[in-house]
Amino acid sequence: MSETHHTKVLIIGSGPAGYTAGVYAARAMLSPILVQGMEPGGQLTTTTEVENYPGFTEVQGPELMVKMQDHAAAMGTTIIQDIITDLDLTKRPFTARGDSGDIYTADSVILATGARAKWLGLPSEDKFKGFGVSACATCDGFFYREKNIVVVGGGNTAVEEALFLTNFGQKVTLIHRRDELRAEKILQNRLFKHPKVEVLWDHTIDEIVGTDMPMGVTGVRARHVKTGAITEVPADGVFIAIGHAPASELVKDVLELHNGGYVKVEPGTTRTSIPGVFAAGDLTDHVYRQAVTSAGMGCMAALDAEKFIAEMDDVTETVVTEIA
Ligand code: FAD
Ligand code: NAP
Repeated sequence: MSETHHTKVLIIGSGPAGYTAGVYAARAMLSPILVQGMEPGGQLTTTTEVENYPGFTEVQGPELMVKMQDHAAAMGTTIIQDIITDLDLTKRPFTARGDSGDIYTADSVILATGARAKWLGLPSEDKFKGFGVSACATCDGFFYREKNIVVVGGGNTAVEEALFLTNFGQKVTLIHRRDELRAEKILQNRLFKHPKVEVLWDHTIDEIVGTDMPMGVTGVRARHVKTGAITEVPADGVFIAIGHAPASELVKDVLELHNGGYVKVEPGTTRTSIPGVFAAGDLTDHVYRQAVTSAGMGCMAALDAEKFIAEMDDVTETVVTEIA
């Protein structure tokens, strides 16, 4: 039997942004409902060691997310395993429909559906994810001290990741499918000047090669896009940096977006183009994309929602008083 739930604050997403919004909204006595989605705990559940979340010199990603979930629940957030499939933001209360058939009505909505790194789609890439293949240099660069590193991509992210990885690796090879980069000139100049960096132009990756015992990467097989010639590049770590896709499908036709699908918010706030709808975390952030920044924005979203609801209540009270 499907149910209808009403809440002052509906939080969609269970990554660091969603759970932090839950902690703050619950402590503001707003009795929030948080819908977890298809990946309870979000992106950090797909990684192992996290070494840059304040308070933890090292914590497993899934463990950190269980702690955040427990924290949000302990403060009074109702956590529901469901996936929002439709969201009507055209009138208040806002209405969301779950995959379970349940309906959620809400005075305000916090969108925290995150973003996904784009992958090449190779079976060998899948096989070595977490064992030498990564999409996050900030998270995993530290594991490749004095090692050979390959970065794939030609945009700002790829060049920034390659430059960052020079802090760790003995050599960084950037492999790009064309003969010019998309990245900003200033970043390109820094890259080309760097003694540890080599660029392999006009190449795509055919296969990431490695060993099963122990599970690890030993290199990539790259193909020249014009001649078809194969080059084997030795590597211990392969960073795929071909862009991120924000999970904004639910709202892409109703909210203002920027930079290829990220939800636009008023600078310094989490307010979207619809009053009462807030966005936090990787869904709105194409620059930082970190657990701690997402958590920070989750806090901001809950505070913004609290203010919005208080103002809504003030208006209702004034109308009631005037009628009386
Ligand atoms: P996400 O974590 O992406 O969570 C999104 C949530 O939205 C998920 O729970 C999903 O189920 C839910 N959702 C999506 N669609 C729906 C829907 N329709 N209905 C309901 N729910 C929905 N950052 C660091 O700071 N340190 C690290 O070491 C680090 N390591 C990383 C390693 C890997 C492999 C990856 C991929 C990322 C890593 N990051 C790291 C980045 C970090 O994970 C993200 O910045 C952070 O998780 C973003 O949090 P978020 O809450 O915005 O969204
Ligand atoms: P991007 O600009 O979309 O670049 C993606 C790169 O990956 C492109 O060079 C693209 O090649 C390549 N690519 C895409 N799919 C590929 C595939 N299947 N195989 C091989 N290569 C592939 O993505 P981004 O670099 O993540 O940047 C996203 C947005 O964030 C941009 O607006 C960017 O400016 C912004 N950003 C800004 C900063 C900053 O300001 N410091 C930092 C990071 C990101 P082609 O060039 O051939 O298309």
